[in-house]
Amino acid sequence: MPSTSELLLMADRLRPRTQQREIGMSDLGSCRRRVGYKLAGTTPVNPSGSVQAAMGSAIHDMVADTIKALNLPGIVAEEEVRIAGLLGHFDREEPELMVDVKTTSARWLEHIKLHGPEHGHIWQVSCYAAARILQGRDIKRVRIDYLARDTGEEYQWPHAEGAPFNPRHVRDAFEWLEAVRSADVDMLPRDNEPDSVFCQGCPFGGPDGGICWEGYVPERHLRSVMFVEDPDAAKWADKLWETRQQIKALQDEEKKAKEVLDAIRPDGGGRVKAGVRTLDFRRNPRDPERFSLYFVAGA
Ligand code: SF4
Repeated sequence: MPSTSELLLMADRLRPRTQQREIGMSDLGSCRRRVGYKLAGTTPVNPSGSVQAAMGSAIHDMVADTIKALNLPGIVAEEEVRIAGLLGHFDREEPELMVDVKTTSARWLEHIKLHGPEHGHIWQVSCYAAARILQGRDIKRVRIDYLARDTGEEYQWPHAEGAPFNPRHVRDAFEWLEAVRSADVDMLPRDNEPDSVFCQGCPFGGPDGGICWEGYVPERHLRSVMFVEDPDAAKWADKLWETRQQIKALQDEEKKAKEVLDAIRPDGGGRVKAGVRTLDFRRNPRDPERFSLYFVAGA
């Protein structure tokens, strides 16, 4: 009998959106090689998908079904749109506002709160907004609702009112897509880690590397395929050397900045506003004389 996660994966595979071969707005800013395979019409080799993606799909469906069932005034859920031939399905439109929903982990949510959304997410919601504006709808702002699957925490980027719609994001998205479209698929970067959930669930990847990582050195890391494609050991050794030098230089700079900021540390530790950022000086539990310095996410 299938396990619960297998049933979830089956359900996700049966969704029309999962079966969609055509590239769509949700592909914008994602792995360039994956988009390249899709553009080339490459046959998928890995049907497995990911449980995380299936959970995300279930949440999207539930929200859309609820909006439709309650017939909430002023809210339109999950409609198909196109802009310059690119297909998309927006999550929901509220008065003057386009909202996209993303499920994530609590750990990645902290990253988003600190560093902002990935550009692909902003491109996607901006393209939905642009498509609706072209249909005559009055969309002035965009918002991304991030929902942590493990804690249930919700974070609305940038805040409940949303950010002003900026057509520059739509232009940037189409420039990115054009760059991917014009490149040979074999030259496109593999933008994810082979053992990541993205590659494991990718239609062109999977546990054995799929067609994306095929050709790697047997019994070695999947990434060794990059050496097979470019067997210049000296070049790769230089790259490692230079990267380590950069890391060392950055660590030195980080140490200096922390030492300088020790000037504003409250005696017992605590939070201090510094420009647009908030710093958190925390006492080291193992060595109470020392403090660690963190940035406060979303503050
Ligand atoms: S397997 Fe990973 S790197 Fe390769 S196309 Fe898929 S997501 Fe990109």
